[in-house]
Amino acid sequence: MHVLVTGGAGFIGSHLVRALLERGDTVSVLDNLSTGSFENIRPFEKHPRFAFAIDDLSNALVLDRLASQADAIVHLAAAVGVQLVVERPTETIETNVLGTHAVLRAARRYRCRTLIASTSEVYGKGVHIPFREDDDLLLGPSSHSRWCYAASKLLDEFLGLAAYREYDLPVTIARFFNTVGPGQTGRYGMVIPRFVRQALLEEPITVYGDGNQTRCFCHVADTVRALTALLDRPELTAGEIYNIGSSQEVSIRELAGLVRERSGSNSPIHFIPYSQAYAPGFEDMRRRVPDTAKLQRAIGWQPTRDLHQILDDVIAYERQRLADDVRRREG
Ligand code: UDP
Repeated sequence: MHVLVTGGAGFIGSHLVRALLERGDTVSVLDNLSTGSFENIRPFEKHPRFAFAIDDLSNALVLDRLASQADAIVHLAAAVGVQLVVERPTETIETNVLGTHAVLRAARRYRCRTLIASTSEVYGKGVHIPFREDDDLLLGPSSHSRWCYAASKLLDEFLGLAAYREYDLPVTIARFFNTVGPGQTGRYGMVIPRFVRQALLEEPITVYGDGNQTRCFCHVADTVRALTALLDRPELTAGEIYNIGSSQEVSIRELAGLVRERSGSNSPIHFIPYSQAYAPGFEDMRRRVPDTAKLQRAIGWQPTRDLHQILDDVIAYERQRLADDVRRREG
């Protein structure tokens, strides 16, 4: 299969590209490197079945050419990270909505099956735990720019499902819950790489709010396994939404302790008010747990790595990066 991965130089994207190449697919990546990094795809640079285009999704000529060669598109390119969303809401909305619009237009022209990345953020202020794909959705007010991310991804879902219904385009929606693993940057807020770096540098671990908010963390290798399986079964998954995530719930306060323990660090844990961490009036999601029964029924998927394994993997990766930094500075 020839797969076009938008956002393929990002964290999840580059792990997906590796998996697709390893199983024999041909892969094109379209990425403007705004949050992704060339380092993530450097290992595939010379691969005979790999091609890379640095460009925006708004470049219709490039997108059109790449889509014309592809059997499938995995659309991961998006504005991500709570910090970026709060600081640059216009860019967030435009990137997400116009990007998905452009991808779907190209997919329709060349009849590519399409997988669109969405987010657990769309469950917003929902209180029925665990979150199911057919839940009613309740977001916060539009006066809080934080919700623009969820709203824009929700519009992406509607656009994708409309293309399925009106034009019979095989579109599948993947709602990612917190995905972590080696290669994720902490630059845009992501908590685990941030805590691990802080712990390894013996700096204070910054817990936002009271730390009682919870998340479920899924290893990127498990996420990628779900994506490739969904991609392989368009007859089953077209027109459907799937949660992808782990059900192992942990509070951020507990997480800070675990990171400290597993990295052998003596970092103190500092509690920082949300208003200082993000913006005044910032509303966090208090609990976020997926129901993944639908995904399990469709493709027999279950995560294989627990939180301890995830943390050990990220700690090993960040340790290596810090050692490389030191070597570069000294050498
Ligand atoms: N968080 C934190 N300290 C940090 C970064 C994040 O306490 O340095 C919290 C954040 O407020 C949220 C959780 O960790 O409750 C997960 O944050 P992340 O940005 O990784 O993803 P989110 O689940 O918010 O999309």
